Amino acid sequence: MKALGGGDVIVVGGGIIGGSIAWRLAQAGAAVTLLDASVFGGEASWAGAGMLAPGGEFVSRSRWAEFALESRALYPAFVAELEGETGVGIDYRRCGAVEIARTEAEWQDLLARRAAQAELGIRAEVTVGGLYYPDDALVDPRDVTRALRCACEKRGVRINEQTRVMAVRVTAGRADVETSGGMLSGSAAVLAAGAWSGAIPVNGADGQIAIPATFPVRGHLLGYTLEPGSVGPILRHGHTYVMHRSSGFTIAGTSSEQVGFNRELDSQIVDDIHARAAELLPRLRSAPKPTAWLGFRPATDDLAPAIGRLGDTCLWLAYGHYRNGILLAPATAARVAGEMLAR
Ligand SMILES: Cc1cc2nc3c(=O)[nH]c(=O)nc-3n(C[C@H](O)[C@H](O)[C@H](O)COP(=O)(O)OP(=O)(O)OC[C@H]3O[C@@H](n4cnc5c(N)ncnc54)[C@H](O)[C@@H]3O)c2cc1C
Repeated sequence: MKALGGGDVIVVGGGIIGGSIAWRLAQAGAAVTLLDASVFGGEASWAGAGMLAPGGEFVSRSRWAEFALESRALYPAFVAELEGETGVGIDYRRCGAVEIARTEAEWQDLLARRAAQAELGIRAEVTVGGLYYPDDALVDPRDVTRALRCACEKRGVRINEQTRVMAVRVTAGRADVETSGGMLSGSAAVLAAGAWSGAIPVNGADGQIAIPATFPVRGHLLGYTLEPGSVGPILRHGHTYVMHRSSGFTIAGTSSEQVGFNRELDSQIVDDIHARAAELLPRLRSAPKPTAWLGFRPATDDLAPAIGRLGDTCLWLAYGHYRNGILLAPATAARVAGEMLAR
């Protein structure tokens, strides 16, 4: 067994969640080892569109709605700090979003939604054809994970890729992590393996400890190359959206399938997203053929993230961010790293 130093923290999973937590811990002086079964930032955090849009997600008050608003408020400073530490540019823009109504019934729904969201502090203005959400923003998650990796390396985080965690054994002050490359041991651990988290057995002194189960919700996206600056705010209608990066790369989404970890693109779904997106932005009909990709949103049974310490063990859970993991990364990292460092 490779025993790490007494203050060592082992982070399982190098997506935007594990990467952000590792960075925050290392900034505070912790010695951190991050393990990923594949590559840093290669799964859902690579696939995600990067809408930072509580306006499209939350209608009623819940602790996750508040957490999402808190996280969106943290984003500008999170991005500036990451860029400042690494010199890696991050495409982040508060471009707003337009939620479109096509029928009178949809318009009435939007008005009711606007009234409910006003109670939560989500601003929406009436505009031609729908509602305008001025505070919604977007970020390129691939830029964020590239910068996180660089920031982690600069802060001395040991990143072990192609290292699968098979099981974790925890007590109040020690975590033993069984990996495909042997055993590692530290004084605390974080489980941030996205849609795979719930399948990793966690054992305590008295046997296996139950943790929230996870399952993947697959989603497809399409990417078009358009003239930079040729699309304004994010356009949304139901589950269809179109958003434009500063480079001109324009993303259309999305779909939702429960098919396990099947990585095969479904051409019918791709065609359907293209047709729906072209209704929102007709110029997509004549755009060059889009590229398509997919990813696995990490879901739990109640579709809410599992964030926090597992009982009185030294293991923190940070997974199950479902459709909002890009949005929730800054607040999740602040909470988990804050709790761990306070201890
Ligand atoms: C199509 C699509 C669109 C999306 N759009 C948005 C959006 O607009 N806005 C938004 O906020 N969110 C969006 N999301 C959701 C967001 O991408 C996810 O919630 C977020 O990326 C989850 O991050 P994560 O770090 O928890 O998981 P991941 O990025 O999946 O990272 C988990 C990591 O754990 C590693 N791992 C797995 N098993 C093990 C193991 N046994 N041992 C070690 N490592 C392991 C994996 O290799 C992976 O690198 C979207 C997702 C999809 C699929």
